[in-house]
Amino acid sequence: MKRDAEEPDAFAMNLMLGIDLGGTKAEAVLLAAAAAADEGRPGAAPGSGGAGEVRWRERVPTPAGDYAATLAMLVGLVQRGRAAASAAAASADAATTAEQAARISIGIGTPGTVTADGRMKNCNSQCLNGRFLQRDLEAALGQPVAVANDANCLALSEATDGAGAGHGVVFAAILGTGVGAGIAVHGRVLTGPNGVAGEWGHNPLPWAEPGHDPQWRCYCGQVGCVETLASGPGLARDHREFARNGGSGAALGAEEIAAAAARGDAASAATLERHASRLARALAGVINVLDPDIIVLGGGLSRMPHLVERVPQLWQRWVVSGGVREPVRTRLTTSLHGDASGVRGAAWLGRALLQPPPG
Ligand SMILES: [Zn+2]
Repeated sequence: MKRDAEEPDAFAMNLMLGIDLGGTKAEAVLLAAAAAADEGRPGAAPGSGGAGEVRWRERVPTPAGDYAATLAMLVGLVQRGRAAASAAAASADAATTAEQAARISIGIGTPGTVTADGRMKNCNSQCLNGRFLQRDLEAALGQPVAVANDANCLALSEATDGAGAGHGVVFAAILGTGVGAGIAVHGRVLTGPNGVAGEWGHNPLPWAEPGHDPQWRCYCGQVGCVETLASGPGLARDHREFARNGGSGAALGAEEIAAAAARGDAASAATLERHASRLARALAGVINVLDPDIIVLGGGLSRMPHLVERVPQLWQRWVVSGGVREPVRTRLTTSLHGDASGVRGAAWLGRALLQPPPG
């Protein structure tokens, strides 16, 4: 069967497999993209085809500390995903062949990143670090595979059919045990020569005030990173240390602090306000560089409802005004797909591999 390289296969464009490879479990979904008028048009942005609909999903444990077993697990997931694609297509379109089903796009999201030469780094599953995951999977599966970090998957998922859909520049930040972000520009993830686009968590907290903003050492080797203060553990540590310095905080987790603040605990409310101020300054720094249309918050801390209201009130002061005070137009919102954005974004990312770059 001959294929025209200029005309992406309609079936392969429509069904896509995404896998979110976590430290303890891996989740796979088969997404079907709703057709749109410009579907398949060279240069059409991923997501211009509309929302993704889940046709199949499976969750399996990640083999601990065993690279060969992890590869085998991923290959098994893909094979079952291909079978599900065949079944889905058979019910919709009798003309679809097994060969077409074997060519669904594949994207994998991981907590780590991929180096320029294709090795994994910064993975919490240590057995992946230093490995050529993408190359090994492509060899095992006989087709291109996209591999990206979970922040880029969040950005693409939310920009495509989530909270950032319809916005040109989306900055999608993860606030959890760490702080990271991905950037989607007109439906495509922004990558760079260093693979660090969006790594605002390891910039220093801007406009830090001595005595008010602790300068803690970060695991990355620097001091005073945004992550040390804006992450969940950072919030909890700040609450604890404030108590040690004469305040009335205690050893609570971020969720417990938010719950205590909601019950009227003044020390917890003060901790949340310090955290919101730091987040506002860090995001004002992002706005001053990138000027995104929308900032989407994901990760555990994004579930704290006060952030999307309070942070934009605070960031106004730090977004550069040039002498004319105007309202900041960048919107702040929480992710639409929540934890599912990892696996959905991985699926969209694999699909983008099949599309020619714009221009
Ligand atoms: Zn750092």
